[in-house]
Amino acid sequence: MKVYFLGTGTSQGIPIIGSDHEVCKSADSKDKRLRVSVWVTWDNHSYVIDCGPDFRQQMLTSNCKKVDGILFTHEHADHTAGLDDIRPFNFRQGVMPIYAHKRVIENLKKRFDYIFETKNRYPGAPSVKTIEVENDQPFLIGDKMAFPVNVMHGDLQVFGYRIDDFAYLTDVKTIEEIEVDKLKNLKVLVVNALREELHDSHFNLQEALDFIALVKPQKAYITHISHILGFHEVVQKELPENVFLAYDNLEITI
Ligand SMILES: [Zn+2]
Repeated sequence: MKVYFLGTGTSQGIPIIGSDHEVCKSADSKDKRLRVSVWVTWDNHSYVIDCGPDFRQQMLTSNCKKVDGILFTHEHADHTAGLDDIRPFNFRQGVMPIYAHKRVIENLKKRFDYIFETKNRYPGAPSVKTIEVENDQPFLIGDKMAFPVNVMHGDLQVFGYRIDDFAYLTDVKTIEEIEVDKLKNLKVLVVNALREELHDSHFNLQEALDFIALVKPQKAYITHISHILGFHEVVQKELPENVFLAYDNLEITI
């Protein structure tokens, strides 16, 4: 299985429009972060987790030519705003399966009403098939099972996903012990860390490192990063040896 980091930035992306912050002005390509998403592939199967506002650019840069389905973590715009750009996949492949919590599907129906219109559909509008994800209900993607992991983003429920020995958790602030038990024996854990300072709805770096120490994956990658965490190169040097800052266009094999 391959995991390609399509984006590793927090909601505004890095650089932030108009910012003179030193990280936003960095020349290091690892300091340029689109909105968070990963592309997971194995054999001839291809899935993405989330579909934020940079989706089109991410599909072009990664040379992704086929998507068998999109797994959504939650409804926030940095994870969903690119949904209109699935059209090239619709034209080539047909209807796009999207997997999400019922609440997230209802939210998408409001925000992208034309996609879900059944009468007088705009010609060429995106077409989706919705599959509700429920906690403790693994579901089949291709020939593998995806296991939802229930986490909290402040007061908002969010799904992470485990596929084989890989788990992707973003926008986590708290997680119940029973959910942590679903993350045993991971080869790779991806988890969010926003910055060093505390935040109401995101792990800061220390909380993410504590969580990684609790879960004990072989390797962990940090994502959903704010510019104020600092330069990639500097922060990476401070991390434990099995913990890495993810960066855009990083590809790992699991
Ligand atoms: Zn987010």
